[in-house]
Amino acid sequence: MTNIPKSHPRYDSLVLRERLVAGYNDGIVATQGLIAHGRGEMFYYLLGERTTKEARTAERAAAALMLLAKNPVISVNGNVAALCPGEVVRLAEVTGAKIEVGLFHRSDQRVAKIQAVLEDHGAKDVLGLLPDARIDGVDSMRGLCCGDGIHSADVVLIPLEDGDRAEALSRMGKKTIVVDLNPLSRTSRSGTVAIVDEVTKALPEISLFAEELEDDASEQDRLLTNYDRDANLQAVMNVMQGNLGKLG
Ligand code: ATP
Ligand code: MG
Repeated sequence: MTNIPKSHPRYDSLVLRERLVAGYNDGIVATQGLIAHGRGEMFYYLLGERTTKEARTAERAAAALMLLAKNPVISVNGNVAALCPGEVVRLAEVTGAKIEVGLFHRSDQRVAKIQAVLEDHGAKDVLGLLPDARIDGVDSMRGLCCGDGIHSADVVLIPLEDGDRAEALSRMGKKTIVVDLNPLSRTSRSGTVAIVDEVTKALPEISLFAEELEDDASEQDRLLTNYDRDANLQAVMNVMQGNLGKLG
C-alpha cells in the first residue's frame, strides 16, 4: 500500500481508497466498485465526512430491527469485504446474523476470495458460494442467493447495494437495512431503515447499539416505532444543503 502520512488532512479518506485499491488488486473488488466508491466519497464530502445525528438515529433503529429479527442476514459485496471485514464479523456475532456473499458482478472466484477474507477475520459458515435460490424478479447472476440465507431471511442488511436488488428484496416482503451515502438513491428510498453514513463507521455503530439494546425489548420497539425513514432522509438532505450553502 502507498504510505500515507498521518498528517494528511484527508488521511481517513485516503486509507479507505488504499483498501479498495488493494482489494481490487487482490480480485475482491469489481472495477465498477471503484466507481461506486467515488460516488460515495462525493456524498460523504457533502455531509462533512462525519457521522450525523440522523445517521445515529437510523443506526439505532437498525440495531433494534436486527435484534428483533428471527433470521437476520448480512449481505457482503466486494467493497464491504475490502473496507471492513472485521466489522461485518463482529456485527454478525453481536446480532446472531448469518453472513452471505451477494455480488452484483458475480464470479465464483470472487465469491470464494471474499469468503476467505471473512473467514480470516473469524467468520464461520459464510454463505454464497453455492446459491440454490433466486431473488424474485432479478435477472441472471445478480439474482442468485442462498435458500438458507437471504432467501429465507426476515431482515437483510444490505450495505452499498444496488437499487434494483434492494427494491426486489422489499417486494419479497423482507425488511431491509441499507447503508448508502446517497440519500437520493433507490436503495436508500426502498430500505425499511436507511442509514446515510460511511460503511466503516456505520457497522461498528450498529454493533455498539445492539450491545446496548440487547436486553431491552421495549426500547427496541420504541425505537422502531419512532423511526421515520423519509423524515430522516429529508433531515440528511438538509444537512447537505446547509453545507452547500456555506460554500456559496
Ligand atoms: P441505486 O442503484 O441505489 O439507485 P446507484 O446505482 O447510484 O444507486 P450503486 O452503484 O448501485 O448506486 O451502489 C453504490 C452506492 O453505495 C452509491 O450510492 C454510493 O453512494 C454508496 N457508497 C459507496 N461507497 C460507500 C461507502 N464507503 N459507504 C457508504 N456508502 C457508499
Ligand atoms: Mg445501482
